[in-house]
Amino acid sequence: MYDLILKGGRVYDGSGMPSFNADIAIRGGRIAAIGRINEPADKALDVGGLAVAPGIIDFHTHFDAQIWWDPLGSSSNEHGVTTVVMGNCGLTLAPCNPEGHDALIGTFVRVEGMPRHSLQAGIPWNWRTHGEFLDALSCRPLGLNVATLVGHCAVRQYAMGEASVEREASDAEISQMEELVRQGMAAGAFGFSTNSNQTHFREDGKPVPSRFANLEEAERLSRVVGASRRGAVQFTHGAFATPEHVAHISRWYDTILKETGRPLIGESIRHRWSEPDLWRNQLYDVAERWRQGFASYAMTSTRRSVRRWSLKDGERFKALPEWKRLMSLAPEARKEELGKAGTRQRLAGEMASSGPASDLSRRWSSVVVNRASRVEHKGFEGKNIDELSRLQGKAAIDAFLDLALAEGLETIFEETNTQGDEQAVREIFQSPYVMLGQSDAGAHVSSGNPGFGFGTILLGYWVRERSIMPLEDAIRKLTFMPASIFGIRDRGLLRPGMAADIFVFDPAAIDLEKPRQVNDLPEGAPRYVQGARGIHYSIVNGAVLMENGVHTGAYPGRVLRSQAR
Ligand SMILES: [Zn+2]
Repeated sequence: MYDLILKGGRVYDGSGMPSFNADIAIRGGRIAAIGRINEPADKALDVGGLAVAPGIIDFHTHFDAQIWWDPLGSSSNEHGVTTVVMGNCGLTLAPCNPEGHDALIGTFVRVEGMPRHSLQAGIPWNWRTHGEFLDALSCRPLGLNVATLVGHCAVRQYAMGEASVEREASDAEISQMEELVRQGMAAGAFGFSTNSNQTHFREDGKPVPSRFANLEEAERLSRVVGASRRGAVQFTHGAFATPEHVAHISRWYDTILKETGRPLIGESIRHRWSEPDLWRNQLYDVAERWRQGFASYAMTSTRRSVRRWSLKDGERFKALPEWKRLMSLAPEARKEELGKAGTRQRLAGEMASSGPASDLSRRWSSVVVNRASRVEHKGFEGKNIDELSRLQGKAAIDAFLDLALAEGLETIFEETNTQGDEQAVREIFQSPYVMLGQSDAGAHVSSGNPGFGFGTILLGYWVRERSIMPLEDAIRKLTFMPASIFGIRDRGLLRPGMAADIFVFDPAAIDLEKPRQVNDLPEGAPRYVQGARGIHYSIVNGAVLMENGVHTGAYPGRVLRSQAR
């Protein structure tokens, strides 16, 4: 007698091998059999015509706070995710002593864009060590499985207090940090995360603690992960800010990889119109480290980042000097200048120039009219500026500025800078060294383009509509690949004996729903959520968690530990 049978699906087992028709039987939270199954079960689900895959592993989340008030990890739970990895980017809530609570909250507020009053109201803080954090979480109902990394910022704050954001650590302080990482690994963490991103500050404007670490500190803490012979090191470093930062980062890569022998998850690679060749150089660097035999992984986002802006706010153009000058003028003076032919010529010239420009695409075809404020312009909505220019028989800069000026600068434009060149995206996604899904789930709550649903958009858009890779490969990248890198041993594959974390979807229908704003953070603060279509079931440890987008009421998730205690 089985607990549950999935009848008649097509099995994508996570290995990347060709899919096949089979039933799957589950008993005691594990996969008991795969094949033609006629024995009875407590419950049988007809999944004929649907794809049956391992549950997705959302390996780059910041659910560390949210998981305490939202045990379902929404909206990841709506996208076939069955396991989340928290504690990325050096940011964790453990270890922490009571004096450090406020400082750690300050790192999440600024770097991850979460409201302070929600964090203050929602985090129970009934732990000090990483192990106590895991134990406290184990006592709560959980929808998803949760795995953690030990964050460098928390470790440094614990060992050094406020000095963690002022100076390098002493030998004794590094020794104490080593002990904290060792304790975290012993308690079951899946690795260590650090952060040297030059744009990452605490709420009070001080750099996050891990940015003060020297190479010796990074090396000694990473070596603890190496000595455990488990887990991975996750290294957030952001864009290469200065030559010194480049040298710093490459020394970290070399040292951490050599010293630990563990997989390292480093740079984020995306195609960007603003720096169209950068991705190729980044892929080359990663491949070069692999040629030397080091397990160096990069990650990418399957979602395009979309920005909405108007010419009332100049932030968008701060990297272009003439635009910046104009946008800093008072509105009336700005409008007057934007009407002048000479000014327009200079602005058009800057848009056509090359070189990094922050996150600005500098491409008129990537700028779309999102919302026109006047009725007579509604027909322009959804058109890009190049199309508008052709339609009106005038230069793009004129089409753009004439529209904005006619609407008193109220027009909302939508611009997409990343993952626009499909050939580049294909190479990035197909690289064996690139992990797919950099959701940042739980963070950046006010973004109208939330990171949930990286799997949904991969399977629905990139695989079904753009044929970027076979479905089998996409499933492997979402499941077996992250499970292998972090060492989540019994998940990420559909095989007898493995945990029954399963995701059932319709490859012909899977798609994102529109993001919507809800006010469900502690203290009623707003955030964006986003659901999916075409996802029929997600099953966690053998129990159905989600059925057609609706929570069944079950809480089958667990705190995962990197070794049995
Ligand atoms: Zn992150």
